Amino acid sequence: MYQFSRSIYRELAGEILEDQRPNGGPGNHERVLRACEAAIHRLATDRHYFAKPTKTLFNDIRIYFPMASQRRVYCVVHRYMTFAEEWLASQPLNGYDLEGNRLECRATTRRGTACQRVPLPHNGYCPSHQHLAETEDVLVAA
Ligand SMILES: [Zn+2]
Repeated sequence: MYQFSRSIYRELAGEILEDQRPNGGPGNHERVLRACEAAIHRLATDRHYFAKPTKTLFNDIRIYFPMASQRRVYCVVHRYMTFAEEWLASQPLNGYDLEGNRLECRATTRRGTACQRVPLPHNGYCPSHQHLAETEDVLVAA
């Protein structure tokens, strides 16, 4: 999974601004790499609540690049985040995320507790709660 964050970093590393570090601390290269890893981690473990992965990561790292690189940075981020999402969506459903956490349906039952059935990979709801995914699509479209 982290091949995606490393690829983003590798493609962009040459354009990262030189840092001014009066107080030490992590440099720009490390910050960019960490931000890429964090975005991929979130995509791998919390995909259905991560609405705009490209925009989020781009906003996190754009300050480390010069004005002239912004468009390219956006394109690279978008390309790899799309790859990562497609790759995740193609993984077989086994009830666990890539870090071994048990997946649970996103719905809340009538008793107010979390539904604990295994969700379908494309929308994160179990078979009995598929109607919730449909309403969600309607809300997004509206
Ligand atoms: Zn459910």
